[in-house]
Amino acid sequence: MSHPFTVYQCHSCGLRSITAPGYCSRCRSKQSYELIEAEGRGTVFSCTTVYVCEQKWQAEAPYQLAVIECEEGLRVLGRIADSGANPVKIGTSVTLTEVRDGVPFFHIMQG
Ligand SMILES: [Zn+2]
Repeated sequence: MSHPFTVYQCHSCGLRSITAPGYCSRCRSKQSYELIEAEGRGTVFSCTTVYVCEQKWQAEAPYQLAVIECEEGLRVLGRIADSGANPVKIGTSVTLTEVRDGVPFFHIMQG
């Protein structure tokens, strides 16, 4: 499945970032970053149930909004698909399945 979930990687030290930084926060390099495609696998770092949200997402509430600690070393805010009002346990393995309107959706990996 293809999911255009890209992150910026510092040319000098390899630090990764969600947004394009003016300079690297680790090595202070002003060298250009390259865009790489993230695998999108990670674990749930924190999680909260959203009942009230932006109008366009309201029909899907309640849903789980989680901070995912990705294998690339990033923490990403995204939604856990198909979880409804059920909180997801911290440390649960998840994988990115799609990006909708800039929001990454993760599925819980079974087994
Ligand atoms: Zn760097």
